Formats: sequence, C-alpha cells, structure tokens
Amino acid sequence: MDEQQRTARAGRAHSAAERLAGHDVVGVAVTWVDNSGITRVKTVPSAKLESAAAWGIGASPVFDAFLLDDSIMSGRYAGSPVGDLRLHPDLDRLTVLAAQPGWAWAPADRYTQDGAVHPQCARSLARSMTDRLRGAGLEASMAFEVEWTVGRAGTDEFVPACSGPAYGMTRLVELSAYSRDVLTALAAEGVAVDQFHPEYGAGQLEVSVAAEDPVAAADTTVLVRETVRAVGMTHGLRTSFSPKVTAEGVGNGGHVHVSLRRDGSSVMTGADGPFGLTQEGASFTAGVLARLPALLAIGCPTTASYLRLIPSHWAGAFACWGRENREAAVRLVTGAVGSGSWAANVEVKCFDGAANPYLVVAGLLAAGLAGMDESAELPPPVDVDPASLDDDSRAERSIAPLPTSLTEAADRFEADPALAEALGVELAATIVDLRRADVALMAGKSPDEIVALTRWKH
Ligand code: GLU
Ligand code: MG
Repeated sequence: MDEQQRTARAGRAHSAAERLAGHDVVGVAVTWVDNSGITRVKTVPSAKLESAAAWGIGASPVFDAFLLDDSIMSGRYAGSPVGDLRLHPDLDRLTVLAAQPGWAWAPADRYTQDGAVHPQCARSLARSMTDRLRGAGLEASMAFEVEWTVGRAGTDEFVPACSGPAYGMTRLVELSAYSRDVLTALAAEGVAVDQFHPEYGAGQLEVSVAAEDPVAAADTTVLVRETVRAVGMTHGLRTSFSPKVTAEGVGNGGHVHVSLRRDGSSVMTGADGPFGLTQEGASFTAGVLARLPALLAIGCPTTASYLRLIPSHWAGAFACWGRENREAAVRLVTGAVGSGSWAANVEVKCFDGAANPYLVVAGLLAAGLAGMDESAELPPPVDVDPASLDDDSRAERSIAPLPTSLTEAADRFEADPALAEALGVELAATIVDLRRADVALMAGKSPDEIVALTRWKH
C-alpha cells in the first residue's frame, strides 16, 4: 500500500461516506473471518471511513489464533499479543445493511503496518489464488449455498422455530413474515438470490445465490449470513450456521459450486471427457477430489463438523464424484439439457457452515490448480450411495471414506505440499495448530456437549 493508493482510497471513501449519509448510516462494520470460521468485526463511525480506507483500522494479529470459544491458542505463527495489523475496508463491496438500520458493511483485507498484505489474510489469499488461475487463462465463478437453523431466542438449547415437515409449505407459512423479510433484505443489499426453501432438518432453511467471482462469492456468503442473523433477531429467533445444532439428524452444509471458463467457454461441459468435461475441467476436479481429505481441515474445521460428515446424511462423506449424486463429496451438476454452457459446475458437498469461506476459495482453487499441473485423471464416476456398497466394492471403484475426525483431517492437510505452498508456511501452520487445539478443547466431551459448545458460535 503506497501513498498514491492511500490517497485514492481516501477520495473514494469520502464520496462513499456522503452516499451512506443519504441512507442514514452512522457506522460501518468492517469484518474478516477468522481461521475458526467466526466473522469478527471492528466498526468506525461513517465520518471515519475515509481514514479507515486510507490507513486501515488497527487489529491485533492474535485473532489468527482464536478458537471458537474465544480462547487463544499458542501457535507457531499466531497467538502472540505483540504487533498490529491494519484492516482496510474494500469499498467496492461497501453495502448498506438492510436489516441493521444505521449500519453499513464492508469486508476487510488485512495489511501489516508496513503496508504489505498480511501473510495470514485469508481474503487476500483467495484473491491471489483467483489471480493465479487467471494467469493460467481461466476465470472461476463460485457460489456458496447457505444452510441454517432457526431456533427460539432466550435459550441456549435448540428449540426449532417451526414445526412443519422437511421442505414443507407449512414451514413457510409458519415463518412467512420472517422469510419475506429475509428476501426483502437480501434484495435491498443487491444479493442475487436464486432460491429460498425449508431444508430437511428441524427449523432448517436454505438460500442459494448466483455464482460470481470467487472473492465476491465469499463476501456474499458473509453478507447473507449476517443479514439472516439480523432478520432473525427482529423476529425473536436465533440463527445457527453450525455444522450440527443437535447431535442427531442432518447438519448445516456449506456446499460450494465452482465453474471455470476459458476464453468465455465453460470447461465443465461440451467436450469429450466424462459427461462433457474438458481435459482441464476433469483435471481441476480430480485435483480437488484427491485433496479433499486435506481440504477438510479448511472446509470442516471443527470437532462438531465430523458429527455432520457421516454417510447417508447428504453431506458427501465419501471421496468420490458422480453426476447429480448427492452422497458423493463432489457432485457434477450438468444442468438441464441445453443449459450446460452456463449451468454446468462442480459442487463440493462435504464442507460445512463453520468454514471460513475465503480459505475455502483459496484451498479449492489451489487444489484444482495442482490437479491441472499434474494432468490428474478422474476415477470412474459413482452413481449409487457409496454407503450402500461393501468395502470391497468401494475399493474396486476407488471410493475412500473421508476423514472421520478433525485430527485425521489436520494430519492429511499437514502432509499436502501443494496446499502448504499455496497457503504459505505461516497460514498453513496456523491452521494445523488451531485444528489440534480444537481437538484438545473438545477432548473427552460427548457429542451432545460438543454440539452445545459449538451451536451458537457460527
Ligand atoms: N444439510 C445437508 C448437509 O449437511 C445438505 C442437504 C442438501 O443436499 O442440500 O450438507
Ligand atoms: Mg441444502
């Protein structure tokens, strides 16, 4: 960040602050997501936006070491109380918050006091991975599905806010005003909602949004979640994006859709690879599939995540891929006949609502790029629930169960050189240290206790 950039940012922030005043905004929430998947915030009054844009807002690097219970682990490259970072709000994403009158929001990039990008800034990393892909001639689009559960406020227990059946119209009737307010707020914020529906679990709902640039997609999922939470508050409801709100039943996924284009044409369709994939589309997908066990340290970052990631719960607990197979961790979505050129994409189903979306973007793109570098080949597709096969049949089809614990995922992540290179020594070490600290935090606890400690954190 040099002087010229600071001056340009200050100028833009000045006009932005005038625009915010027209919307009666008094403060701007500047957020980043920590490595435990929790959105943290600092705010400035609108009058200070100009200085925040130019000089950043002070924030300790110790946040890199936060666990989900706000305890601070002592990591190899995180956890020291010494030092300071600068949070620079991204003015391109400045949004008036529709469900929090008087507030606007912007996601932050984190810089050092020297004006360099902080080596553990997940948002900057997501951007640099997107740029790396662009350097290889490919434009990525991504979208996060947001699943959540609504419970009654006033208790730490989970009391579902509706009693209608899964996908039932009854639920929409019960939560009609709330659901309308969710859609109204997201529209006012410029979020391109594709669909909203009651999900399978008790009190569970879902919003899906249009695909966009990967960093924008991660920003959007933060905005959607905090908007949903804020709307819930006004209806006396409590919102959870936690992987599990009860030890039984299905959890909250954080499925991610990825598509790639070269020279404007999708590499996910129209070619002679399996189901029309191009060679590079297949290699990208194979790179992701091969690294899923390691990527779980990013996408399923809590001990509770592994209570969700179980067979026959639509969470994709097996490392395999298939066309429209909702029990495969990687689902190829080809779209309806005739729509493939814009609709074809790869959906990673195993990740959950506790994941930092910026790390998910960075990790997936790094894994896909590694697959392309290696000209990786996809194993045969799977068209059944892998849980319905015996061990021998699964082995014949190269279907492996994904890690069943955070310890296993952290070990696999630590052993993956491509991910370590992409994330950098410091961030990769911090992720491993944090996951092991989470395991220690939850050691000896029952599933009910783990769920209770995790339920209202994300
Ligand atoms: N809630 C499921 C999960 O944990 C996903 C349901 C669906 O396929 O949308 O990922
Ligand atoms: Mg869903």
